[in-house]
Amino acid sequence: MYCGVILRGAVRQTDRLYTYHVPEELEGSVLPGSMVSVPFGMGDTQKTAVVIELKDSFDGDLAKIKDIGSLMSSLPVLNGDQIAMIGNISERFNCTRGEVVELMVPSCVVNHKDPMEVFVELISEQTANDVLDSEKLRSAAHINILEYLLERGKCTRKELMTSLSCSAAQVKALEDKGLVRLVKETAEEDASAVAEDEVLQDKFTEEYDLAPEQQEAVDEICNGIDSRTAGTFLLFGITGSGKTEVYLNCAKKVIADGGSVIYLVPEISLTPQTISWIKGRLGDSVAVLHSRLTDKQRYEQWNNIRTGRAKVIVGPRSGVFAPAVDLRLIILDEEHDSSYKSESHPRYSAKDIARLRSQKTGCTVVLGSATPSVESFYAAQKNAYKLLELKNRARQEAVLPEIIPVDMKEQIKLGSGDMLSLPLRQAMSVAFSENKQAILLLNRRGFSRTLICEDCGEPVTCKNCSVAMTLHNSRRNGTQSLICHYCGYTLPSYEARCSYCGGNHFTKAGFGTQQLEEFLHQVFPHEKVLRMDQDSTMTPGAHKEIIEKFANKEASILIGTQMIAKGLDFPDCTVVGVLGADLMLASSSFKASERAFQLITQAAGRAGRGDHPGIVFIQSYRPDQPLFRFACSQDYRAFYDQEIEYRKKLNLPPFKAVGEIVLSLTDEDKLIQRANILAKYLNDFLSFQDPKYQFEVYGPIPCVIYELRGRYRMSFVIKSVNKSAINSVFKRLIADFDHVKYPMSFDNDPQEG
Ligand code: ADP
Ligand code: ZN
Repeated sequence: MYCGVILRGAVRQTDRLYTYHVPEELEGSVLPGSMVSVPFGMGDTQKTAVVIELKDSFDGDLAKIKDIGSLMSSLPVLNGDQIAMIGNISERFNCTRGEVVELMVPSCVVNHKDPMEVFVELISEQTANDVLDSEKLRSAAHINILEYLLERGKCTRKELMTSLSCSAAQVKALEDKGLVRLVKETAEEDASAVAEDEVLQDKFTEEYDLAPEQQEAVDEICNGIDSRTAGTFLLFGITGSGKTEVYLNCAKKVIADGGSVIYLVPEISLTPQTISWIKGRLGDSVAVLHSRLTDKQRYEQWNNIRTGRAKVIVGPRSGVFAPAVDLRLIILDEEHDSSYKSESHPRYSAKDIARLRSQKTGCTVVLGSATPSVESFYAAQKNAYKLLELKNRARQEAVLPEIIPVDMKEQIKLGSGDMLSLPLRQAMSVAFSENKQAILLLNRRGFSRTLICEDCGEPVTCKNCSVAMTLHNSRRNGTQSLICHYCGYTLPSYEARCSYCGGNHFTKAGFGTQQLEEFLHQVFPHEKVLRMDQDSTMTPGAHKEIIEKFANKEASILIGTQMIAKGLDFPDCTVVGVLGADLMLASSSFKASERAFQLITQAAGRAGRGDHPGIVFIQSYRPDQPLFRFACSQDYRAFYDQEIEYRKKLNLPPFKAVGEIVLSLTDEDKLIQRANILAKYLNDFLSFQDPKYQFEVYGPIPCVIYELRGRYRMSFVIKSVNKSAINSVFKRLIADFDHVKYPMSFDNDPQEG
């Protein structure tokens, strides 16, 4: 017997299917998906690998074939559908198959040692009885052992030794007489280890009669699940429409039928609140993969999934790789969330992988959002996804919050400064007097990297791409220039004109969370303020702690970046302020408007979740622009119609695929030199391609963050008809360039500019 294996974490040179011989004693135990240790290379270093296929014969040079070193896990670590996806994932995300295996088999699995125990069993009850009857045995210990085994059956040697106070040698003596047999086996995992410290609360387990539109969605999805036709549903429901209830009802059905569910949520929403609530509703068969788990806990969760004990897997994007048994449903809640896309190699998208897995297994995919990504909504418009809509809030008494645009130009004239407008300040005072809370949202992305018109608050935008241009300081000649990150268009900053009002006075407008915090202490000296941003959440657990403090009402104001907008539920928060809303649009990404709309909607969803109606203020220098109008009236379709026009006009997704190549080097001169070589190569290569691929290439363009961890970075943007055309270019670059001399990263779905 032979097997083909892939080395876990293989680099490109070793990313092959290697053949090994399966020694006789492992035949039957080594299966497709088994994790094995294999001797590799000249020195026979042991490497971790996964068996992809078994074969009876091998037609190569048998003398060179080595034996598998050992079997590292008693059960296979990958299921058939996972093995079937490896090749596709490596193709689509430009990584090695070994790296895909690494994603699927996390290190907690590799590092886990099956606790082996020695069990003792009788070879034959008959013989044992005969020997006891014949009174041939002299040793009382021997007699006791046999009687114990006759009475209770197979047990561990440890149990025998403690119960009977006998020794291992005495057990061994019986083995030598041919009366008992010793076997090494994996001890039964303690299932109770799954239980976490989180306490279930009654309100979390409440069930509802579904509203008609919820019921309709559940019925449609369940039909899809039963048909096993790998359909994708887009559940488009306003905030508070009860999407979660739909997910839970579908998940319940799958569990009842014996199947399993992968339920993905943005990492940030994996709060203890959410976890205990899902467990409360779906029972013990839930495995949760969150970042606070220790390696041991993570392994336990993973093992419960693999053995089929866990039927519902709740986790962030990496959960899409879980070894679910008989997978019938994958849910992506808040499908538009950028955390579903990995920002480090391999740059995979959990949404793409969910769809791929659905094609392999026939399972159903449900994408849920109040603000679907433009790409997903477009797919639903084209009937690639089935659209399901929830148009009403689930709880009758819950009303949508009022969203009020505030003109900051006027506020500054009134003398209230550029941080807190008068109406927001007043609403906060009223809320605090009623023992309610407020959240202030400040988007720091793009902060002080863009120039904002002093008169109208508009960022300087690219004349070709209408995204905000990014400010770069040249360290060579001390000048400042503005650069577009999509086409590379560059403008000396003194030549900038506001595209809205023609003004030429600009500022690096904006303030940070710390400045805001200090300001709040002056305005509301008696209120406690909590701040959640990158700085205050550096230590593990800090994020959770801040949320808990705010939920326990230890502070009345929570300020933070976009991370506070997602999935949190504070019943006593009645006021939300979105500060510096213009800066959201000033990000250099083509998704800026989409992200702004999503953020405002989510932030608004935070207000008035309890019994009190909420109020939301959007502070902007240009509150009349369409995006803010649509956001204030919560008119997703109007937003979508405008956005899809813009994407079409500029050949952006979903009409064309965009790819990004980033070249990074510690030596700036070399970087520029090599970027130019790469530019020439790309232009030459693409000019020979079939026009049907509609290749466009831009660059080299300095990255938005030009200097990162001691490296300088230049990027290229490629547009083409689809992702596979983009990937074919990436493949050529991987093949033709020395990746040590040209350290490049490839992304066929860049999310942020
Ligand atoms: P979404 O995820 O769509 O924003 P949620 O799932 O958070 O909405 O639901 C909003 C609120 O409505 C929750 O408090 C939920 O418990 C409640 N809810 C959901 N479905 C129903 C229903 N059928 N009847 C009454 N309340 C419901
Ligand atoms: Zn441009």
